Amino acid sequence: MHAPRGQTDNPQTASTGPKRKPPLVLFDLDNTLVDRTEGLRHWAEEFTRERGLDALAVEWIVEADDNGLKPRDRFFAELRDRFAIGDTAEALHHAYQQRYPLLLRCPRHVLDQIAQLREAGWRVGVVTNGLTLTQGAVLEHTGLAECLDGWCISEEANVRKPDPGIFVLAAERCGSDLTAAWMCGDSPEADVVGAQLAGLHTIWIRHGRTWPASNPPPDQTVDSVTEALQALRHMGSPVISR
Ligand SMILES: [Mg+2]
Repeated sequence: MHAPRGQTDNPQTASTGPKRKPPLVLFDLDNTLVDRTEGLRHWAEEFTRERGLDALAVEWIVEADDNGLKPRDRFFAELRDRFAIGDTAEALHHAYQQRYPLLLRCPRHVLDQIAQLREAGWRVGVVTNGLTLTQGAVLEHTGLAECLDGWCISEEANVRKPDPGIFVLAAERCGSDLTAAWMCGDSPEADVVGAQLAGLHTIWIRHGRTWPASNPPPDQTVDSVTEALQALRHMGSPVISR
């Protein structure tokens, strides 16, 4: 194990001076560490096939899902009504919670990059808005749960991004604090602005978009989580003054 380059004293072994917490990086989950868009589309394709719906139903479902931002009870009620499905919205949601997490993947090389960061002295966590049952199952199924120091899911934490409180709680669960912390995610508002409010450095995954000019820019902009992990790994020091 070695410290990130440029860091003169390993925060976990330094014997003099105030004890520093390990550097921390927090990641968003959906469309950051896992491709939620692809997973939701797979689920919609399966659902459409199983229910004998028109192929156009996939596009309707993807649009109605609104990138997961629509409350699930409303989403499943709309789905039931649109296609005159006999099941209750609750039953549809329950079936979705059993199946959808199994359709998501975290690429092996991303899991390996996370392991390398931790070997280099970083603490690595996840901060995600969503339901505890669903997001917890995604973390378990993708192999992320056993790769992380900790995580916060908004429902169980009772606080949502962009509220700074969720970043503080995630840092505690990872055995660190926000002194030398980074946040990486794809949402300008929830991930970047929220983390900025909490005093973290930020990496934005742009997914082909332009940064909204009305918001203060992130410290770094990248095209993928792989690029973000490489940037963190090769950083001279995780402690960078603005
Ligand atoms: Mg996201």
